Amino acid sequence: MKQPAESILSTAIHNFRQAAKRLNLDEPIYQKLLTPREKIEVNINPTLSGGKAVNIKTFVVRHNDALGPAKGGIRMTPDVTLDDTTGLAMEMTWKTSLIGVPFGGGKAGIRVEPAQLGPVDKEVIIRSFTRGVRRHIGPEIYIPAPDMGTNETDMAHIRDCVSYSEGISITKGCVVTGKPVILGGIVGRKEATGKGVVYTILAMCEKLGTDIREMRIALQGFGNVGSVAAERIAHCGAKVVAVADISGAVINPDGLDTEELLKHYCKTGAVKGFKKAIKIDRDKIFEVDCDILIPAATGSQITVKNAEKIKANVIAEAANAPTTPQADEILNKRRVLVIPDILCNAGGVFVSYLEYTQETQREQMTLEQVEGRLAERMKNRFNDVYDLAGQKQITMREAAMETAVAKVVEAVYARGLLP
Ligand code: NAD
Repeated sequence: MKQPAESILSTAIHNFRQAAKRLNLDEPIYQKLLTPREKIEVNINPTLSGGKAVNIKTFVVRHNDALGPAKGGIRMTPDVTLDDTTGLAMEMTWKTSLIGVPFGGGKAGIRVEPAQLGPVDKEVIIRSFTRGVRRHIGPEIYIPAPDMGTNETDMAHIRDCVSYSEGISITKGCVVTGKPVILGGIVGRKEATGKGVVYTILAMCEKLGTDIREMRIALQGFGNVGSVAAERIAHCGAKVVAVADISGAVINPDGLDTEELLKHYCKTGAVKGFKKAIKIDRDKIFEVDCDILIPAATGSQITVKNAEKIKANVIAEAANAPTTPQADEILNKRRVLVIPDILCNAGGVFVSYLEYTQETQREQMTLEQVEGRLAERMKNRFNDVYDLAGQKQITMREAAMETAVAKVVEAVYARGLLP
């Protein structure tokens, strides 16, 4: 059972409180930003193939929309909670602010195991969810995207369901991002988060004068984000020495063939059983001898139990809230450089913003343009946060949070506090 002190929400609140203290926020604005604007729990009861009726809890949270409509992914896992969704929505408020896109923070959760669903049943659940929360989704309210357990097909079904509910073929404005290119999606969105992670690591190497080709990488999570990050970083010349997923972990100190591993993963749905590697326990991934550790799975994975054992000098947080505050403190004392989630994995929401502008302006961007803008934004934001941390002698997480919260506060005051 997850301890409340190690939950995604408690991590998000802790990080916000620290920033609020440093920024000396007044009580009303502090309370406003601590409390989500809207929290919804909707029970859906679809009938799946074979006639089986199910009861599924779903959640939508809009944390803050001072900078624009709420933006954030839909998480479909068997253990997602309203609290997780709230913590993740709060994180999205800071992420969109930090990366500089005109959105607020939101998130949705669907409490079901996607791996046990066939494509028809998954579509039924996605459409049932969309119908249930219809009033809370839309270009001016909350614009979903993929997160753990959801993908571009699901986004296509949400968009279709919204259009259908309005009785027209295509709704105006951007209802979802991360949808298929044929439906107005943008090239490169699927890979954007993983690639963005690698761009921040490359920016770090440039800052520190280190060579990416000398880096050994360990990754936890080999889904959308982790597999792209692994493949891209290997392409840059780094050695991916270990990868873990929910099924187990594999290690090869001489470097894993990431392309072969991905083929194996696509075929079997797991890294387990990959021939050209040694099998290790899933949680041993945190003890692997490496230079950079990339948590790309879920929240609260780096805790007091493993923070002392981590050998990497750098942690690039591809996942949301992977490090608990207590573990963060240990890592800081050990002088491990942590590239915080709201910076490291912001490539996805940045390219979602490009998709939004492409759709609203009826334009089309090439992959080269998308990647060029993503690379530039990730590098610039990494440098800004790294430099601020150096000037103030604070951690990168503290610098990122301070920057992000200050911008949201400025927007709240600019809009005015009445009525
Ligand atoms: P995904 O569902 O595609 O993949 C998740 C991966 O994590 C799978 O390989 C799964 O086996 C593994 N995993 C789950 N629990 C694990 C555990 N306890 N130990 C080891 N491995 C475990 O999800 P994704 O879209 O790749 O998202 C991964 C993380 O990145 C999440 O924290 C998500 O919130 C964050 N993120 C995703 C995006 C995006 O664009 N998809 C954007 C920003 C942040």
